[in-house]
Amino acid sequence: MQSIPYRGRFAPSPTGLLHAGSLMTAVGSYLEARRRGGEWWVRMEDLDPPREVAGAADDILRTLEAFAFEWDGEVVYQSRRHHLYQAALQQLIDAGLVYPCSCSRKEITSVASRGVDGYVYPGWCRAGCRSQRASHAWRLRVEEPAVGFVDRLQGPYQQDLPQDIGDFVLLRADGYWAYQLAVVVDDAEQGMTDIVRGADLLVSTPRQIHIQRSLGLSTPTYCHLPLLVNAAGEKLSKQTLAPAIDAADVSRELRLALCRLGHVPPADCQSVAELWQWAKANWSLARVPAGPCQL
Ligand code: GLU
Repeated sequence: MQSIPYRGRFAPSPTGLLHAGSLMTAVGSYLEARRRGGEWWVRMEDLDPPREVAGAADDILRTLEAFAFEWDGEVVYQSRRHHLYQAALQQLIDAGLVYPCSCSRKEITSVASRGVDGYVYPGWCRAGCRSQRASHAWRLRVEEPAVGFVDRLQGPYQQDLPQDIGDFVLLRADGYWAYQLAVVVDDAEQGMTDIVRGADLLVSTPRQIHIQRSLGLSTPTYCHLPLLVNAAGEKLSKQTLAPAIDAADVSRELRLALCRLGHVPPADCQSVAELWQWAKANWSLARVPAGPCQL
């Protein structure tokens, strides 16, 4: 039997510039793909214009180029793929697995309990929209109590979806697609076999597996890389004021990212080309720490 060739990706959201944490994710997913003789694609997750920063998408690509990342194919932009998300939603509507929900955030947060990633929607609109609002979201029903998988770095991970998450949104009432749906549709449509990304998304993975099962899609393997956190233990992000990468000192930043991923290059590896050459020859997931790494 022929095995499916490896295909991985890096999928930044242009809500800010590349920072040391997202660089680590890019480096780890790139090296794992190359080490396995696979492809590595870049997908720009530009589906949430209110949160996006003007010019960030181009800036991220320029920064990846400055680090000499070599991606396969053209960069894919989610903002040009609405028809795919619409078709997936339609499939779920036809199968009776989603329902329109007119509840406001305020109504939900005043009553609902907290789950593992925000409030657990109590399912009020399952039997029909509770109120007559002009716009409504679409929610996916969750009934399966134990959705789990074995992460290649973090080990077994499982959630009780009804209790921990609740029926969740695929299309927001403001008309924007939810990350959870878009990421599943794109990973499947692009033929991704191995997902390597930041550990902040571990909590999202059971939802993504549930969407895959609802759409009849196969599940890729997952590997969640350690997060880079600040002194307060918070993930580096725009909200925690992560500084953008210093593109003037690319080899220093690349060396740092490799060290944080458990790979300390020899001192005589100085240039970006030498660092990549060493890293491609020496990369091993077994050396990558699972827990967060402090800045
Ligand atoms: N766009 C997401 C982010 O920047 C990553 C999505 C993914 O890798 O699944 O956090």
